[in-house]
Parts: sequence; C-alpha cells; structure tokens
Amino acid sequence: MTVNLLDLDAAGLARLCAESGEKPFRSRQLMRWIHQSGAADFDAMTDLAKPLRERLKAMAEIRAPRVARDTTSADGTRKWLLDVGTGNAIEAVFIPEGDRAGLSRGPACGDATPKRDASASAVVASIPSAGRSPSGGPSSRAPRRYRGTLCISSQAGCALACVFCATGHQGFNRNLTVAEIVGQLWLANRDLGRGVTAERPITNVVMMGMGEPLANFDAVVTALKVMLDDDAYGLSRRRVTLSTAGLVPAIDRLRETCPVALAVSLHAPNDALRDVLVPINRKYPLRELLAACARYIEKAPRDFVTFEYVMLAGVNDAASHARQLAKLVQAVPCKINLIPFNPFPQADYRRPEAATIARFRDIVMQAGITATVRKTRGDDIDAACGQLAGQVRDRTRRRERRLAAAIG
Ligand code: SAH
Repeated sequence: MTVNLLDLDAAGLARLCAESGEKPFRSRQLMRWIHQSGAADFDAMTDLAKPLRERLKAMAEIRAPRVARDTTSADGTRKWLLDVGTGNAIEAVFIPEGDRAGLSRGPACGDATPKRDASASAVVASIPSAGRSPSGGPSSRAPRRYRGTLCISSQAGCALACVFCATGHQGFNRNLTVAEIVGQLWLANRDLGRGVTAERPITNVVMMGMGEPLANFDAVVTALKVMLDDDAYGLSRRRVTLSTAGLVPAIDRLRETCPVALAVSLHAPNDALRDVLVPINRKYPLRELLAACARYIEKAPRDFVTFEYVMLAGVNDAASHARQLAKLVQAVPCKINLIPFNPFPQADYRRPEAATIARFRDIVMQAGITATVRKTRGDDIDAACGQLAGQVRDRTRRRERRLAAAIG
C-alpha cells in the first residue's frame, strides 16, 4: 500500500524510516523536503541516496488534495476549492494583512491570534478617531507588520448544525485525513511562492474553515504537530488557533496533548439562546464550557481565550445581550471577537447596522473586556467566515429533512 507522507508527523516519518532500516535523521531531511521545499517528487531530494529515493518511490507519495478552483478577491484574500474525492470539496482561505501586500487593514479572521500590540491596533481599526500614532500623526498611514493567515478546514461538511453557518447547513460527510488537512497548508505555501522569495507567506494558521476541528481530534492533533514542527512549518503555538463550537471533553484533551491558541464560538450570552444558535450547547452548556476554557488557560500558549460572537440582527445584538455577555465571561481571561454575520443563500439572518455593532462592542469594553470587530475579508468570493460551503455529499441528509419540514 502506498503511504502518503503528508499523513505523517515527525514521529510517523521516523517510524517509517526505522522500518526501512534508515537512520533517524533521514526523517528530518524528508520533513524539510516535503514541507519547507514543497517537494512532491522524490527525485528532487538530492541529498538522499539514490537507493533510498527509489525505495520511497515504490512505497510512498506526497499528495495534497486536487485544486478544483483558485480564486483571488479584490482585497487580496485567496480561496482554494479542493477536491477531496467522492463528490466532496473543501475550502482553504489565505488572508494577507499589513505591509507585504501594501495593505493597511484591521484584523480579519486571523485576529484570534493577535500580535502583542493587537488589542491596541484592533481598537484603532474600529474606532477611527482613536487612530493616532504616538507622534500624533494618523496611524492609518503607518505600515503595519505583515501577517498572512491561512484558514483551513477539518471536515467535509459539519455535523453541528449551527443555524447561521453555511457549512452547518450542508450537513456532514466525513472527517478529513491528516494529509488533507496538512495538504491545505502544503498547497497554499507552494502556491504563495514559498521557496521563491524565501519569505514565509503564511505566518498564522487558523482552524476556522469548514468543520468542527475537535470532532476530528486525532487527525487535527497530528496536523497541528506538523504545523508546529521546526523542520516543517515552524509556527509557534501562539500563531496556530483552533476554533471550536465547544466540545468540552475535547477541549480538555487538547490542553493535555497539544495546546495551541483557542477560540471558542460563543455567539449567545445565555443557554436558552445558545441552545438554538449552537445546538451542541444542549450537550455542553455554558457553565461547563466556560469552566473548560478556564482550565485550558492554565496550559495555553496565550493567557486568554478568544470568544467569537457572530452578530445577528434582532437575535443576539441588543444592549442587554452585551451586558449579559460581559457578565458571563467575567471570570475567564478573554478577548471577544465580534463577527458581523456574513450572508449566504439559505440564510435566515441579517447583519446588524454598524452602529449597533459598535454600541455592543462599547458596552463590552466598558465592562473592562477587550472586544474587537472582525473585518470582513474575501466576501466577494464567498471566502468570509461562515460562507465556506465547498461541496459536500451530505450523509446526514440534513438538506432533505429541511426541505421536507419546509413543505410540511
Ligand atoms: N466549528 C468551528 C469553526 C467554525 S468557523 C467553530 O464553531 O468554532 C469559524 C467561525 O465563524 C465560528 O465562530 C463560526 O461560528 C463563525 N461563523 C459561522 N458562520 C458564520 C456566518 N455566516 N457569519 C459570520 N461568522 C460565522
């Protein structure tokens, strides 16, 4: 059977080398060829002896998902639609910010892992009058440090059925393999010209694409290990963020096995509303979720958790919700990231007015909690949060059931 080397972390590659009677350091060399040079061809690996290359050719491959479509947004956001077989496609999105692309923008999806000065810059991004540099000049002219965030998927579809999410509407097909998760990074890195410029185009990874990463725990953790590996992508734990709808036992497992920056999709300040918006809340209610977040922080690479809160007009955007939210999260060191709802064809929700979102943010901030508004990026190519729908063969038959319910 052919082994796809994108399925293996350092331990897996070391095992493979040992089984073929190779010295352990060969696995490090292989890792660098695969992930740093983006090699897919064993013949390119010139510092490996020819017999080893021949053996690898006979037993292994380096195969990422096939790119079905590659689209770039007017704002520089780039989206890959990837074919993962049997009628399923997933999406990965790259969001460049700051200097390198000549941009000067506020935080986008990647702001769950802000730089040290992020709370300041995020506030600047959303309150124009506060945008002043120490010298008194407008800070919007000052070049921002480059950041390139890749948002990747963990499942084909999603079983959690959050009512405001395009992926949730599609239903679930299957978990992605490690090769399919890591393959998104491998492909993006290669397509973005790593190796040509020797710069790292991808500085941050967020597991905020399609799917619930903690519902595909083992594959996601192995993929995280590859992202963090110095012989592969060498990202620090602070620059890799996993976003979850709140699978409490898995949050505890992640804390023990591979703590990275954590974002939690809160979206409602009380159980009654969250039961409706994020149905997994019926299994893991807010009290348990917040306790898990507090435990996570003990081992986390950052001393806060990011709470994501999608803003839905007339549903969860009232001043009373903001006050309730601030009270709810008081005991957990956190930052709140408000995400203006991104529409998709079957959506029953609307994005609130900018003033409503600003008022909500101000109430939370006045309670002493950092809150930022996520800038929408890539919405012209349906690459914004919650718009990723790829194409999924729904084994849960959710669409059929919805339709049947609608027509009675
Ligand atoms: N399953 C993970 C990753 C989901 S996507 C999770 O639930 O966290 C990342 C974020 O985008 C989540 O906070 C998700 O709730 C949010 N999101 C989903 N649909 C959205 C939409 N239509 N508009 C804005 N944000 C959305």
